[in-house]
Amino acid sequence: MTRITVAKGDGIGPEIMDATMSVLQASGAEIQMDYIDIGEKVYVAGNKSGIDAASWEVIRKNRIFLKGPVTTPQGGGYKSLNVSTRKFLGLYANVRPCSSLHPFIETRHPDMNVVIVRENEEDLYAGIEHQQTDEVVQCLKLISRPGCEKIIRYAFEYALQNSKKKVTCFTKDNIMKQTDGLFHQVFNQIGEEYPEIEKEHWIVDIGAAKLADTPECFEVIVMPNLYGDILSDVAAQITGSVGLGGSANIGESCAMFEAIHGSAPMIAGQDVANPSGLIHGAIMMLSHIGQAKAVEKIHNAWLKTIEDGVHTLDIYKHGKSSTLIGTKAFAQAVIANL
Ligand code: NAD
Repeated sequence: MTRITVAKGDGIGPEIMDATMSVLQASGAEIQMDYIDIGEKVYVAGNKSGIDAASWEVIRKNRIFLKGPVTTPQGGGYKSLNVSTRKFLGLYANVRPCSSLHPFIETRHPDMNVVIVRENEEDLYAGIEHQQTDEVVQCLKLISRPGCEKIIRYAFEYALQNSKKKVTCFTKDNIMKQTDGLFHQVFNQIGEEYPEIEKEHWIVDIGAAKLADTPECFEVIVMPNLYGDILSDVAAQITGSVGLGGSANIGESCAMFEAIHGSAPMIAGQDVANPSGLIHGAIMMLSHIGQAKAVEKIHNAWLKTIEDGVHTLDIYKHGKSSTLIGTKAFAQAVIANL
């Protein structure tokens, strides 16, 4: 039995977490849960970090964290709890698989199967921002050799373990010659240790265009934090919906699992959100803690549900889908297929 920490989060978080937990529990996964509150609830109660000290303790002790999305104010207000959690727990690798499920989920990219490996602690996300004068603000881009080595080695090892033949790197080193230049340089150096794997590099703008147009040309793409954040949303969306993708945040001693998407406040409380992204995050968690039986069971039940055309609003298509279903009922349909 593995003890995990669970936080429902904000917006659609509680709905998709309840749906996900109902599937996990019905699957016979051997987990025990410690629930904590994070995000708006904690912030409104007066804690400006969105998480209290006792909850950090629970997260640190259990070391495995399943997290719903949290709302972060734009252009001011409190610091992103997602960014703090990844930094605080040393979760340096963010792994985001995005594959299409043709013909069951409509997409223009039937052969897409790409894994984005995003550096998760550095870059413009390091949070080094300051006001220089009344009219000038500055954000520093931090890239370190040890940071590059860890994430790039992780990408190559991931490729080896998952029988991928090619690792691609995206940077903008024609302009950011030192920061992105270092990332590219380390990619070339570490790549030499993996002669069996094909290597390629694209400048991120044309790389992004190719990813949006011909994603089937990519297998594993490793990139600095901000590019990975943006392009993993693009990759998930073009498989059919951003609501489908799961995300693993891996560190030396802790790991956090979530959906790729955010708290989607516009659709919160309506029982319309697709819980699949968080279900996929939970599947990655179960795989990480060695519960292969539950992984197979849940993944097959999810596939059968989707293949039966039982679809939430974001992927529902007249004439192709058979049943338009809400968040809770989707989870029940998956459970019926376990
Ligand atoms: P979002 O990903 O929350 O939602 C954008 C749109 O995508 C939604 O309006 C909805 O139409 C669709 N969508 C997303 N998830 C869906 C689902 N499961 N089912 C169906 N449709 C879905 O992006 P946003 O609106 O830019 O961000 C909202 C908030 O979430 C912000 O405060 C942001 O900071 C936060 N956020 C949190 C995380 C995280 O917790 N890891 C990640 C990204 C954004």
